[in-house]
Amino acid sequence: MFSKGFKKIILGSIIAATTLPLFANEVNVYTHRHYATDKQLINMFTKETGIKVNVVKGKASQLIKRLEIEGEYSPADILITVDAGRLEIAKNKGLLQSVSSKTLDSNIPSHLRDRDGMWYSLTKRARVIVYNKDKITPDMLSTYEDLADPKWKGKVAVRSSNNIYNQSLLASMIAHNGKEKSLKWAKGVVKNLARTPKGNDSDQAKAIVAGIGDIAVMNTYYIGRMSNSKDPAEQKIIKKVGVFFPNQNDRGTHVNISGAGVTKYSKNKANAIKYIEFLSSKEAQTIYAQANYEYPVLEGVEPSDLVKSWGKFKEDSLPIDTLGKLNSEAVKTFDKAGWR
Ligand code: FE
Repeated sequence: MFSKGFKKIILGSIIAATTLPLFANEVNVYTHRHYATDKQLINMFTKETGIKVNVVKGKASQLIKRLEIEGEYSPADILITVDAGRLEIAKNKGLLQSVSSKTLDSNIPSHLRDRDGMWYSLTKRARVIVYNKDKITPDMLSTYEDLADPKWKGKVAVRSSNNIYNQSLLASMIAHNGKEKSLKWAKGVVKNLARTPKGNDSDQAKAIVAGIGDIAVMNTYYIGRMSNSKDPAEQKIIKKVGVFFPNQNDRGTHVNISGAGVTKYSKNKANAIKYIEFLSSKEAQTIYAQANYEYPVLEGVEPSDLVKSWGKFKEDSLPIDTLGKLNSEAVKTFDKAGWR
């Protein structure tokens, strides 16, 4: 027979076990994504699996800092960013862990996932040039490099250099053209700016339609979102804007990704993998494409009709991890060029 004391210990540990969060059927996500589609996907996943998804939203740089501070006590299971650069930074800081999944390997093309299994792309977005159709015709446009040509003086609207989309675009240019040429380019664009960089990508379209500049740099999905905005003013503005895919005669248009990685100290690893697998599935990829106008990564899923209406384009095939590797060089180059 057990002694009274021993019984107490057994009973105590059973109670402890039932209250430990370790046994909760959940997954904790730190995400930089800021779209309604993501809420829809969470609801679908929970309905299908019974796994609760808890979300902390923030800028990737802040979420990465938080993961560093929290260390092994972090509740996070997944980090989702809107850019490959930040995922690579998280990987290099030792904040992610390698996972292997046949589903992820078959759903996500190899050039869109980390070679060590630390992160996986969920969607693609192209960084394009948009133009005011009243003033500019597509034959006047050609490459990102051309944005530095003095003929565009006072005509270029673009957001600030602390934005990761711009940092990754410049990182891609450093990879292709070298540091020196890229610095010269950034200086040239600064000279051509229609105003001090401010606002998000949508605000650049608004600027050129309002007569502040003629051309702007934007990620494609912002154009889709404005075209289907609840705000009629946004719909009106975006109708006046044309979409141009730069560098079609050489390396192709710069493409970035939104992606996810399982955190180093994930307590719900199996659920984390299940969630990322779900996000790579046909049903989730269709929602990313149709409702948020991103390019799906899963083969066989079509972009939305609007996105398709811009036509097929040649993508820059630079390995996506290069964007992270050259991130700090890009930030330095922007600083030197005085791109605020
Ligand atoms: Fe965005």
